[in-house]
Amino acid sequence: MLEQVSPWPSGCQGAVSLTFDDGSASQLELAIPLLNELGLQGTFYLNPRDGFEGNLAPWKDAAAAGHEAGNHTVSHPCAANNVAAAVVQRRGECGARRRRTLEEMTLDEMEADIVEASRRIRSLVPEQRAISFAYPCYQSFVGRGASRQSYVPLVARHCIAGRGVGEKPIANDPGHCDLAYVWGWRCERMRGAELVGLAESAVADGRWAVLVFHGINEGHLPIGERDLTELCKYLARQRGRVWTAPVARVAEQLLAWRERAQPA
Ligand SMILES: [Zn+2]
Repeated sequence: MLEQVSPWPSGCQGAVSLTFDDGSASQLELAIPLLNELGLQGTFYLNPRDGFEGNLAPWKDAAAAGHEAGNHTVSHPCAANNVAAAVVQRRGECGARRRRTLEEMTLDEMEADIVEASRRIRSLVPEQRAISFAYPCYQSFVGRGASRQSYVPLVARHCIAGRGVGEKPIANDPGHCDLAYVWGWRCERMRGAELVGLAESAVADGRWAVLVFHGINEGHLPIGERDLTELCKYLARQRGRVWTAPVARVAEQLLAWRERAQPA
């Protein structure tokens, strides 16, 4: 049944979501204007830390233009290895405090962080219906060793979808992928032609590609503006057969399609 009716909007053969993490200034300065000019919408995963009402105010306009403001937790907790590396990178910075690690956190603490981040994002952009989640540092656990546990069930409970990381070039199967841990592809430093090829391979299979970006022309995981532009122009030209939409929008579409195909 699932295979007989396309999950995608009329004429489209597959889907692509453009996702951007950590709310960097280059996303506001370069990515949002590019997407707006081409009529595309992306998902921007934000950390609504204290003072978010002012710091994240520019994202209200982005949301009004149809982009998704996604949940990336308040505190962006990562594994001890990531946190130690970040502290070494910032050595010498005044006031650089060591962050709490995933190994030190409990499920209750993680749930409180996720719920609070969604509450803050909703207060910033109340018109947004659903919120998807992106696992900080692509990690989905708390604790260590024998007490290590997945926090994917918390994301399933509180967000419409969760973006993790998966293997290229296997894109998400619309009928069977776990929406609480959708596979994203890390795209830092990729060339435009590679990005177009990845998107095209997903669409050729009728699947959903979720591309992960951070800073544009800057930061430790950069994508070049020229390469991002090449991808976005391709997506705009192919809009009749490639559905480009925010993660939450695609998740809503798939949930409705699965419901229709497999009524309870
Ligand atoms: Zn992040």
